[in-house]
Amino acid sequence: MNWAIMNKALILALLLCTSSWAEMISSDLLAHKNNNGYTWTLTSRLGDVIALAESSFGKRDTSWTILGVEFSSDGPPQLWFPGSYDNRHDIIIQLTKSSATNSIQSFFQLAHEVIHILSPSGGNDNVTVFEEGLSSHFSVRYVESRIPVRLKPNECFKNSKYLLAYHMIQDIYTKYPDADERIRSLRLKNNNSFSSNLSKELIKEVFPKIDETNARELAAIFCTWEPVKGIQPSPSP
Ligand SMILES: [Zn+2]
Repeated sequence: MNWAIMNKALILALLLCTSSWAEMISSDLLAHKNNNGYTWTLTSRLGDVIALAESSFGKRDTSWTILGVEFSSDGPPQLWFPGSYDNRHDIIIQLTKSSATNSIQSFFQLAHEVIHILSPSGGNDNVTVFEEGLSSHFSVRYVESRIPVRLKPNECFKNSKYLLAYHMIQDIYTKYPDADERIRSLRLKNNNSFSSNLSKELIKEVFPKIDETNARELAAIFCTWEPVKGIQPSPSP
């Protein structure tokens, strides 16, 4: 094959590759020019999600730099701290590959991770049930308020631990109309964190209607959490 033919073949391959990627990404994730500038993508939504999270639960720890959002070839949505080897406080939000073709799923995952960036763990596994439950609850809240679409939480969370943590936070919102302010105050009293050494005593102090068992479960470390058998959100008073 001579160079001219090889170059044509290469260009054709690149075009095919480019067009299949463009077809794969959800159209909602591409910026389209409109009268106000551009339609919202993950990047513009990130600003909106952070604004809603901060207005609800207080300012994020700005000693961390949010580098952006990327899709991961495998694994769950998560935070990735690429500069930690060099003591840099950098964060990348990783979403699943499958969410690239499903914009609602990508916004759902983005909102969940934004709660974790308010007070980043830096990769420690000390995230509490309370924080995972709040992240899960906030992801439903964001999508339902901004898209808008009605979600069925029982179908959104395939992992039963996330579903249970979600329901425990929903229980707080049911019992307390001022739940956002109380959660903000809990974070302030706990060194601006939903996790770092969060105690059941502090949860009981801020949410006295939550029973002792649920307070203890919410303070547990999520990754090693084994929910008490039969645990249910507290009965309404
Ligand atoms: Zn999480």
